Amino acid sequence: MSAHMPIAAHPMDGVLARLAEIVGDRATRAPGVLADHGRSEAYHAATPPDVVVFPETTAEVQAVVRLCCELKVPVVAFGAGTSLEGNAAALHGGVCLDMGRMNAVLKVNAEDMDVTVQPGITRKQLNAQLRDTGLFFPIDPGADASIGGMTSTRASGTMAVRYGTMKDNVLALEVVLADGRVIRTAQRARKSAAGYDLTRLFVGAEGTLGVITQVTLKLHPQPEAISSAVCAFPDLKAAVDTAIAVIQSGVPVARVELLDAVMMRGMNLHAKLGLPEVPHLFFEFHGSKAYVAEQAETTEALATEFGGEGFQWATTPEERSRLWHARDNTLYAGLALRPGAKAMITDVCVPISRLAECLVETAADIAQTGLTAPVVGHVGDGNFHLLVLIDPASAEELARAKAFCDRLARRAIALEGTCTGEHGVGVGKMDFLPLELGDAVDVMRLVKGALDPDGILNPGKIFRPRDRQQGDAP
Ligand SMILES: Cc1cc2nc3c(=O)[nH]c(=O)nc-3n(C[C@H](O)[C@H](O)[C@H](O)COP(=O)(O)OP(=O)(O)OC[C@H]3O[C@@H](n4cnc5c(N)ncnc54)[C@H](O)[C@@H]3O)c2cc1C
Repeated sequence: MSAHMPIAAHPMDGVLARLAEIVGDRATRAPGVLADHGRSEAYHAATPPDVVVFPETTAEVQAVVRLCCELKVPVVAFGAGTSLEGNAAALHGGVCLDMGRMNAVLKVNAEDMDVTVQPGITRKQLNAQLRDTGLFFPIDPGADASIGGMTSTRASGTMAVRYGTMKDNVLALEVVLADGRVIRTAQRARKSAAGYDLTRLFVGAEGTLGVITQVTLKLHPQPEAISSAVCAFPDLKAAVDTAIAVIQSGVPVARVELLDAVMMRGMNLHAKLGLPEVPHLFFEFHGSKAYVAEQAETTEALATEFGGEGFQWATTPEERSRLWHARDNTLYAGLALRPGAKAMITDVCVPISRLAECLVETAADIAQTGLTAPVVGHVGDGNFHLLVLIDPASAEELARAKAFCDRLARRAIALEGTCTGEHGVGVGKMDFLPLELGDAVDVMRLVKGALDPDGILNPGKIFRPRDRQQGDAP
């Protein structure tokens, strides 16, 4: 392009100028910033927004949303960008609200064991600030996600078997609605029967109903003692049966994670764990020293009954952190199996009594497809993930992987489970919602229409304006 050629005005330049009146130079169309807010860890194609805004207060969020409402411009809230189903993708462009600067701890109520935070704080930042209180926030989705993002995807992860998911740990929210109104969904009381449960409506709404500007969370006492263990099993079923027996025997296990033989190969490659390449369970126990020892002994006895071998204890913080650091890096361990590949990550959850059946059928399906797809699962909840390793440039491989994930979601639903235990619907799971929830999806559409009539909040997510009907183009 000639140095003298005028640069064509972009339709969003006018919007940028109006946004600058609200947040000054914290609104930008710099290409690098747009690109950073358009990519994700998943295989989905990049979808950058037109403008990124970095608000610092609820009032700024309110003013930006009001402007977007007036101009009918999409608004997509963005936390840490670690979601895996294209949840924060700016499918229709528009304004990305990066909540990262709203990351303050606003109030710790140690006696009530709760905390109110701004949504951009990450779970690691929060726990670092809570260290001296004797309390902690346990929900751990592996990635250092933001509390606003975790709330909006109803995240859970490794500790949910003991401490519940975000749905169980969010007490109240402050939310900016699509028309710019600010509401608080509840007070701080541990329970309330005051009308519709709006808190839970926004938990898992993926930013389609409002922008969360404050979150009040339950906290838990830091455990006096923690111990971890790993155990190898002859097959997937033996590992799952052990996990079920541990839960049914009342051991309040803090984490129980399944890694299949393929994932163990990846872990050995990536983290040099040197463990046998057969299915494993990773355990963690929280409590007093005596109680942790008792939980561990019961678990070891149960594992042995189901053919578990080589039970290894990790009691020092260093050993524990080596084990769990490796577990937390399963995405990268999986990718080590096929350098250069991208992971199509899928997540389903079934009642725990149907888990072995679901896993065994899925293993047979993977074998038939010829794909490499390591398994990692929060099996205490009946939840597992597969990392389907694909060459994103190969249309044939992409189609094969998608067909496999499609069968898996349908299998989970047929087993009375769900197409997503914790990653949310985003764009990736949209087609399965009607199959799982039927007419309930129409009720979701009604709620969306009532709260966001112009459809400006994170458009194109969770459900289509209507489901595909017979005769529609694919
Ligand atoms: C390696 C790896 C492992 C993972 N393991 C797990 C796991 O075990 N369990 C699990 O649950 N997840 C897991 N995830 C997925 C991810 O960490 C979660 O989905 C997380 O909750 C996303 O948080 P985020 O801050 O990154 O949100 P983003 O990706 O930024 O956004 C997620 C969604 O929340 C919305 N949102 C963000 N902030 C707000 C706000 N303030 N108001 C309204 N809407 C908002 C966005 O619009 C989007 O729809 C994993 C991800 C990675 C990369």
